[in-house]
Amino acid sequence: LETPLTPQQRKFVETIGNSSDTLLTLINDLLDFSKIKAGKLVFENIDFNVKEFIWNIFESYKLQLDSSRVELTLDIDDKIPAYINGDYSRLTQILNNLLSNAQKFTDQGKIGIDLSLVSKKKDRVRIKFEVSDSGIGISPQKLDTIFEPFNQGEKDISRRYGGTGLGLAISAQLVGLMNGRIWVESKPGEGST
Ligand code: ADP
Repeated sequence: LETPLTPQQRKFVETIGNSSDTLLTLINDLLDFSKIKAGKLVFENIDFNVKEFIWNIFESYKLQLDSSRVELTLDIDDKIPAYINGDYSRLTQILNNLLSNAQKFTDQGKIGIDLSLVSKKKDRVRIKFEVSDSGIGISPQKLDTIFEPFNQGEKDISRRYGGTGLGLAISAQLVGLMNGRIWVESKPGEGST
C-alpha cells in the first residue's frame, strides 16, 4: 500500500489487507478458545496505570469513530487507585471485544466507557468496566445466550455484520478466570450495556 499502485490495484490490496485482518482475528479467537478449554491459559501479573491503560484504548477508538456519527465518551471514577496489578493485555482483549461490538452495532448516537470503583479492600480492588452503546440492542430471548460460544443473536447477524460469535464467549471465560463477573443489559432499538 505504500508503493505506487493503480486505483484498481489499491482496491485489491486493501481487500487482501481487510480479509487478512479478519482471518487473523478468527485464528487468534480459535486459539484462545482452545487454550482456555485446555486449561492452559496463564495470566500475567503486571502493575499498570489504569488511567493510561484506558486512555490508550479510548484514543484508538476515538480515532476510528471521529469520521462517523457516533460520539465516544470516557468517564473514570476518581476513587480508582492509580495503579493496579493484573493482566492488562487480557483486559484489553475483553474491552476490545466489547468496544468492537458496540461500534459494529451502533450507527449513530453514543458509545460510552465508564470505570467505577465497586469495592476496595487492603490489597484488592473491584472495578466495573462499563461499555454502553445506543445501537440496535439485543432481544430479551437472545440476551441469555450471547456469552455462549458461536452464538450470534439473530440468525441474520453473521451475514449482515460478520463475526464468529466467539468474542463474548472468550471475554466471559477470561472474566470468570479473573474472578470477575460479566453481564449485559439491553433494550432492542435503544442500545446495550
Ligand atoms: P460476534 O460479534 O463475532 O458476532 P460476539 O460473541 O462478540 O460475536 O457477540 C455475540 C452476539 O451478541 C453478536 O453476534 C450480536 O448478536 C450480539 N451483540 C454483542 N454485542 C452487541 C451490541 N453491543 N449490540 C447489539 N448486539 C450485540
